[in-house]
Amino acid sequence: MWCAGIIIVVFFLIFLPVFSALFLGLNVPKPLKKTASFADIESFISFINDSITAREVNFSTPVFSEILLTSSAFVIFILLYIKFLTNFEPANILKKVAQLLCFCLFYIVYCFIFQRVMDFSSKLVNWYHVNKRDLPWRNTANAYYIWLSEIILQQTRVAQGMPYYLAFVNAFPKVESLANASEDKVLKMWQGLGYYSRARNLHFTAKDIANNHKGKFPKDYQKILKLKGVGTYTAAAITSFAFGMPYAVVDGNVIRVLSRIFGVETPFDTTIGKKQFQELAQELLIKEDASTYNQAIMEFGAMQCRPKSPDCSICTMQDFCEAYNKNRITELPVKSKKIKVKKRFLHFLMIENEKGVYLGKRKSGIWTGLYEFPFLEFNSNVIEKQVLESDEWLQLFTDKSLKIESVSESFTHILSHQKIHAQFWRIKVKGVVFENHELVPKNNLVKYPVSRLTEKYFETIELV
Ligand code: SF4
Repeated sequence: MWCAGIIIVVFFLIFLPVFSALFLGLNVPKPLKKTASFADIESFISFINDSITAREVNFSTPVFSEILLTSSAFVIFILLYIKFLTNFEPANILKKVAQLLCFCLFYIVYCFIFQRVMDFSSKLVNWYHVNKRDLPWRNTANAYYIWLSEIILQQTRVAQGMPYYLAFVNAFPKVESLANASEDKVLKMWQGLGYYSRARNLHFTAKDIANNHKGKFPKDYQKILKLKGVGTYTAAAITSFAFGMPYAVVDGNVIRVLSRIFGVETPFDTTIGKKQFQELAQELLIKEDASTYNQAIMEFGAMQCRPKSPDCSICTMQDFCEAYNKNRITELPVKSKKIKVKKRFLHFLMIENEKGVYLGKRKSGIWTGLYEFPFLEFNSNVIEKQVLESDEWLQLFTDKSLKIESVSESFTHILSHQKIHAQFWRIKVKGVVFENHELVPKNNLVKYPVSRLTEKYFETIELV
């Protein structure tokens, strides 16, 4: 029995406190960890106190959750330990010691797994409270403004999207005002932001909400997901930011953060990868404050764990970041497919007669709904002489009485799937008529929504 007594004393006086200290120590910033020592009971107690105060957090939900998890780990351990004490006989001491070691191992793994999860979430929120940017859409719970900001910020940096957000809120303070605007006006305001399908869907959905939901966003994830232009990310953002519902956002920033910190190697653009990141994000979500947590992880990805040159030297996640500790930052996250970029060679024809310039509204392609000049497309880079001798040119201009006033330099416009090389021809004609094109007085050209490419050309001829 004396063996059992020694084991109990060792366990309660040394083992549990040391592991608890290590456990709490996982939260301690590195410098404090290095200087911690347990030479006497006072230093041990002060270490625990320092560990708690060094976290610089209030008694917030994540911390409370950690305490609950820690306590439950203790309870489970104690239950197992009682089992260890029953039927204790000196003859089976080795077997019992082996059992005890297994229990200890279980305790450590349990604590480590849960601590890691909780530590990540609480640290993230703490980081956010200190480092967040003051952005207008963060100071509102209005689902319409949140939706507007989320659509504008897709594939767009905050600095670029901000003036558009402010202009839209100013011009369309309510979803009904956006619904009542003409598509041309919406596209004109969107001009320069790219990915114009977003603007068309925005307009369509505003009309849908105004007409079918009495001007109010549905407070239901599945119903929001059914709105045109709203995917799982945007639905999670609206439901969590506006209504505090527990849906985790997963966008490029979130994927990068999770992949690097947890060492997730599954390609994020595969079905299995998407599922894995969504499940991990949902598991880490602080459900009682989904809005703050979601904002925090997105902000962390945008500001701290950036795609290129993340600032790891001052990162609060450094201790348990797999990518940092294994020097794999540039390798994560993993993408399976490379986007195939198509090269296009376009020659836009700014054809002018005595009444104005021909302009047509695009009915398909990336610039649907925008106005463009008629254009000729070639498979490769061609010089002016080749354009003039091409079948397309000769079919278009059967009448030889035209005058080429100028041919612009080549403009390059890069989109996610296309690299466009474009030249603009200024041509004076008499009486050529293009079907599906309208004649617009030259001074009115800037009133029409056009692509950023055409807008760049307008700037060179001082139409803007
Ligand atoms: S240590 Fe570096 S890679 Fe890891 S989370 Fe921080 S910034 Fe990202």
